[in-house]
Amino acid sequence: MKKVNKIYINGEFVTPQGTEIFDLINPSNNKKIGEVILADKVDAQKAITAAKQAFKTFSQTTVSERIHYLEKLKKAVNEKKEELIEVMIKEYGGTRQFVTMSNQHTGSWFDSMIDVLQNFEFTRNINSSTIKLQPVGVVAIITPWNASNSSITSKVATAIAAGCTVVIKPSEMSSLQTQVLMDAFHNAGLPEGVVNFVTGLGNVVGTELTNNPDITKISFTGSTAVGKLIAKNAVDTMKRVTLELGGKSPNIILDDADLHQVIPMAIYGAYMNSGQACIAPTRLLVPQNKLDEVNAIAKSVAEKIIVGLPDHEETNIGPMVSVKQFERVQNYIKIGIDEGANILTGGLGKPKGLEAGNFVQATIFTNVKNEMRIAQEEIFGPVLCIIPYKDEEDAIKIANDTPYGLAAYISSADPERAEKVASKIDAGRICINGFRHDPMVPFGGFKQSGIGREYGEYGLMPYLETKAILK
Ligand code: NAD
Repeated sequence: MKKVNKIYINGEFVTPQGTEIFDLINPSNNKKIGEVILADKVDAQKAITAAKQAFKTFSQTTVSERIHYLEKLKKAVNEKKEELIEVMIKEYGGTRQFVTMSNQHTGSWFDSMIDVLQNFEFTRNINSSTIKLQPVGVVAIITPWNASNSSITSKVATAIAAGCTVVIKPSEMSSLQTQVLMDAFHNAGLPEGVVNFVTGLGNVVGTELTNNPDITKISFTGSTAVGKLIAKNAVDTMKRVTLELGGKSPNIILDDADLHQVIPMAIYGAYMNSGQACIAPTRLLVPQNKLDEVNAIAKSVAEKIIVGLPDHEETNIGPMVSVKQFERVQNYIKIGIDEGANILTGGLGKPKGLEAGNFVQATIFTNVKNEMRIAQEEIFGPVLCIIPYKDEEDAIKIANDTPYGLAAYISSADPERAEKVASKIDAGRICINGFRHDPMVPFGGFKQSGIGREYGEYGLMPYLETKAILK
């Protein structure tokens, strides 16, 4: 059994003063695999003090020094890649397929920030005035369990590029991953206090970070409900806030798309990270007159999907992270049935032979009406809604008709037509004909999917304060 009994403050692994214990449970069998001592408010305050002290010198570093630190971080995190993969499979039930793919991207967060720094002008001129873009201050990084590693590494890379220091509060459910990342960041040899980790509960450590006046900015990834709370708390000390929140992303299949090509992609996409992904295309919008054909393809693809133990190479869908999340997904399946949506495949109950873990059947509802709760609310499990539309205008209307606006997907034989449709969709990231990863391209949500953007130059700007000197 693993024990996470240290936090990382001012370049040292220290025992938290908090005493509460949080059990880490393997979601594949619900057996205890470890425990973590939760840090408390005083631990958070110590980390903030260390980051504030370190900011005095780190904010003065040159671009070439920061590039040097980013290179060291990349190397140190890459050295832990294999360990991270194994821990992610065990700790949250991420499938080997998914976590291997997501860990391949880790180095790209550092590379992209190095690229940005090479061309970025921290001092600019407008007429006779000088404009200085300077690091915003101490940043609190608060991250979710489902994308712990990528959220932390991408946010830290940006903060370092800007010259900011950070206090990281990962999800308590990601504590084993946090331990590996703490080791990696320590090995990178950054100056003391630049990066600090405090593992604790949201309503204890998270609340301290959002209230403490020495935190200047919060970079949060997580649910919309918690994001709203954070924004409300942060306003008292006027912290800068970047929020990456939930989604209910549409996947529009235009009438000229090759269904045999795009429907399998749509199904696998909806089930990425076992359906526990903010950008998952969970609403599949298809032409009404092609619904039967889509249903037939979707059913045959979904029935070949393997729900199973996450460490097996062939598994496509692993367990839900917790019993609570399993019950939440079951409840939504029940809601869908009660709302009158048709189950095409899957449904309530666990797949045979997997009763010990939090496994959900690969589920598709068809002929869903967009006003149903299963089409409006983030389920965060392997549940796809197929929604028929009348014409292109109707598809756009349905796509935009949720409180969210994180991602959207469009498939068409004519990329120009797809791009015209994209211009009418209210979402921060729209992929045409397939999924793409580009760490230089801005990421973030419209509407209740968030505030601000991450990645590349657009992601760097919110870590900087703008000063105009008029002469
Ligand atoms: P969550 O909102 O429950 O928790 C996220 C983090 O906030 C955790 O570290 C938690 O401890 C902390 N927290 C909780 N209460 C807090 C409080 N009062 N003050 C400060 N911090 C607090 O989210 P989760 O269940 O860990 O993650 C899943 C959610 O994250 C989904 O809604 C998903 O869509 C979203 N998400 C969004 C993105 C994105 O980039 N937009 C990426 C991944 C996940």
